[in-house]
Amino acid sequence: MAVRCNLIMKHMEKLAPIGYGQEWDNIGLLVGDPTQEIHRVLLALDATEEVIDEAVAKKVDLIITHHPLLFKRIKSIRKDTPVGQCIYKLIQHHISCYAAHTNLDIAFGGTNEILAQKLGVYDTKVLHPLCSEGEVFGFGRIGRLKEPVTLEQYGNFVRDHLGLTHIQVVGNLQRNIHKVALCSGSGIEFMKDAVASGADVYVTGDIKFHDAQAAQQMDLCLIDASHYGTENIVIPTLAKYLKNWAELESHRVDILASEINGQPFYLLK
Ligand SMILES: [Zn+2]
Repeated sequence: MAVRCNLIMKHMEKLAPIGYGQEWDNIGLLVGDPTQEIHRVLLALDATEEVIDEAVAKKVDLIITHHPLLFKRIKSIRKDTPVGQCIYKLIQHHISCYAAHTNLDIAFGGTNEILAQKLGVYDTKVLHPLCSEGEVFGFGRIGRLKEPVTLEQYGNFVRDHLGLTHIQVVGNLQRNIHKVALCSGSGIEFMKDAVASGADVYVTGDIKFHDAQAAQQMDLCLIDASHYGTENIVIPTLAKYLKNWAELESHRVDILASEINGQPFYLLK
């Protein structure tokens, strides 16, 4: 039997509780009908128009993304605006759209823990806690490598394990790296937490020139593995999570990972 949208939502929320979502964020079912029967799900980092076209072509009923389609406040839904056009297309083709964003980043087993596993970081703790009592949850993770390696070796490892063509590195390439802090997406605001936790290197995306200078002054190495590179790794794990559940509970629903390359940057050499 096909499965209703709200049952998939419930299972997503087991992994990424809605309560972990930040106030400024916009998560959950953003477009669609919670009672809709879902036969096919498409997972992607963003619900771009290209991804929505892919969903239409593949007869998908539900798109689950990391970045929310509706993020900034909108005052109209018009076909002549990029977001309006996406909403139009979704509704015309009866496709629902769900987002798990900061709640998935914070979640145990979510984006940051998947990133830590990919980057060979063990014994992880939360880098930037959001609570002082009870269960400690928050952004980023800090842990250690099994054995120290040089920054150059670790940079190569990060690039290869995230399937990237290139990364940017700040710091002495011969420095020994043992303690690693990381935050998926745009995590430079937590650089001070990385320093305070004694990290040798901080891996994140979207690092600016002055952040790199500040890191040098604080003797912290940086690896910019890109916003896309540090987040897109969540998609195969999410696919596996939903597939296992569907199989276990005998739901007839196909789980697909988007084949669109959502990395907007190209490197010209
Ligand atoms: Zn992001």
